[in-house]
Amino acid sequence: MAAVVCKGLIKSYFNGGIETRALRGIDLEVPLGELTMLVGPSGCGKTTLISIIAGILRYDVGECAVLGRDLRTMDDRATTKFRGSNIGFVFQAYNLIPTLTARENVAVPLLILGADRKVALEKADTMLSSVGLEKERNRKPRDLSGGQQQRVAIARSLIHEPKLIVCDEPTSALDHQTGERVMEILRERAVRPDRSLIIVTHDSRIFSFADKIATMDDGAVISVSENRKL
Ligand code: ADP
Repeated sequence: MAAVVCKGLIKSYFNGGIETRALRGIDLEVPLGELTMLVGPSGCGKTTLISIIAGILRYDVGECAVLGRDLRTMDDRATTKFRGSNIGFVFQAYNLIPTLTARENVAVPLLILGADRKVALEKADTMLSSVGLEKERNRKPRDLSGGQQQRVAIARSLIHEPKLIVCDEPTSALDHQTGERVMEILRERAVRPDRSLIIVTHDSRIFSFADKIATMDDGAVISVSENRKL
């Protein structure tokens, strides 16, 4: 089974009666066990596509099967449940909750799934250690650097062991060394035989971490290339 299969995917936005066709027929297969990077010029539809794949946005026409389930056949409640159990999302702006400590932020997905608070916090501590943030676990986001906040966001996306992790520009705000460290953590933790990682990026410094690079232009995937350096 592939992690994601999109066929003829079309999505338009309507604002004041004006249609913007963001996706014009996406065909894309993302295998399990690989890191697929999604690249292309600003406005070509990358964010729209990953939002659909992550179950945050609905599409108009075509098919999008995520881990074997067609998201369009599920209602909002079922989609939210499916997303909560199976998908981790890392936002460009981290989206950490400012009033919570690092460990509380990381525990959130488990708490949403109904886990016991003590168990969730213990697991959060283990996750934070695995991304090198043992000592920072009781700090709030404002007391962490950009790279540290991004690692907290990654730990949060991984804690419920989702099969699919989707990241939007995870290294864009980071210096080269921190970006490499973040990519190493993501590859190690999110690419497994039964797990798959999709990263939207403009950052050519991290292309070498990809198994496949899918290039988009004007609402379509125009090529998928294997990265032979790995
Ligand atoms: P990218 O992530 O590659 O920059 P997006 O998916 O954000 O591309 O946008 C694709 C197209 O859809 C662009 O033309 C953008 O202006 C348009 N678009 C994105 N979001 C909206 C929205 N909420 N309403 C109207 N148009 C939108």
